Amino acid sequence: MNTHAIELTTRDGNQLRFDCADDQNLLEAAANAHIVLPAQCGQGSCGTCYADITHGDFTLGKHNPSALSSEDKEKGGTLLCCTFPHSDLRISLPFDHDRILIGEIKIRNAEIIAIETVGENTQRLELRLAPDEDGNNVAEFEPGQFMELEVPGLGIKRAYSLSNTGNWEGRLEFLIRLQPNGLFSTWLKEQATIGQALLVHGPKGAFGLYESGLRPRWFVAGGTGLAPMLSMLRRMAEFQEPHPARLYFGANRAEDLFCLTELKTLQVELPQLQVIYCVWKSDESWEGFRGTPVDALAKDLADATVIPDIYLCGPPALIEAAEATARTHGVPHKQILIERFLPA
Ligand SMILES: Cc1cc2nc3c(=O)[nH]c(=O)nc-3n(C[C@H](O)[C@H](O)[C@H](O)COP(=O)(O)OP(=O)(O)OC[C@H]3O[C@@H](n4cnc5c(N)ncnc54)[C@H](O)[C@@H]3O)c2cc1C
Repeated sequence: MNTHAIELTTRDGNQLRFDCADDQNLLEAAANAHIVLPAQCGQGSCGTCYADITHGDFTLGKHNPSALSSEDKEKGGTLLCCTFPHSDLRISLPFDHDRILIGEIKIRNAEIIAIETVGENTQRLELRLAPDEDGNNVAEFEPGQFMELEVPGLGIKRAYSLSNTGNWEGRLEFLIRLQPNGLFSTWLKEQATIGQALLVHGPKGAFGLYESGLRPRWFVAGGTGLAPMLSMLRRMAEFQEPHPARLYFGANRAEDLFCLTELKTLQVELPQLQVIYCVWKSDESWEGFRGTPVDALAKDLADATVIPDIYLCGPPALIEAAEATARTHGVPHKQILIERFLPA
């Protein structure tokens, strides 16, 4: 068995090093060296541990093709959880150093403080963290990140993006689409009650605001893909960030759009925010955009004078179409930031 030297470079230019044997995957080897990289499923399904290998040879093991596009693969893109080195490697990470945890992922107790139906098959779930051993119950995370929620006794753990921002009261807010026959979905719909305990693993994930000067930020969300966008926009409002901002929020029918009051409040707090509601199956009375968020994005990119940073989150088909549209209109790869809600 050979051991190889792995060098990571983050988007903001920091470097980290660890060793990896050729029968070990890179994610696991990094964790053994107490370098916890953004990841979720650990089996090539979700795409959260994406990185670009710039030098060296490796094997990419079994993975879900939706989690890694062939275009990304051709230019050295890989999923660290199923990548095995054959030589020393140099790897470029598409996120800043602050997304890497040196140590171990936190696991905390929390209780449900609210469950609310906000749209058809969509629930808002709110938790409060229990104080830790130091009496601290700060909810510390970056906008765009997710937590894994574990239901004690049920043996399942699922990733959900936070829709609020870090706070001192330990509040965590999620928007969850109920998947037919899904294990977590069924538990949430049929068994979850106020006061019930959950375990929270995280924060995790690399998705988040890209500090790239004052470039416009365009957010494209389908369904509960709105959650991390709300978190990022709320942070922009808290910090009164001046970037021009647009949110394209899409649903099949007007009645499937949700969080409309929250979005109106956000537009008051962040006056430069434009919200483009996109409805595909619209009737005569619909006054917003008719079509998908990808159609609206294509139309606006064609007229754009400055190429914006594009944030994408939602169902895989929406993300693929939006990414292809952005690339066709000349948006560089590093200006397209993606979170995929793929099943674990
Ligand atoms: C990083 C990350 C963040 C996520 N954040 C959110 C979020 O904020 N809100 C949210 O609603 N979901 C989010 N998800 C998806 C979530 O983790 C679960 O996969 C989803 O809720 C289904 O879990 P379940 O236990 O109900 O279904 P499972 O028991 O896992 O699956 C049951 C069945 O439903 C199918 N299925 C599961 N998910 C989908 C899907 N998205 N589309 C179509 N079929 C599906 C499965 O293939 C399976 O056949 C996120 C996923 C990732 C990887």
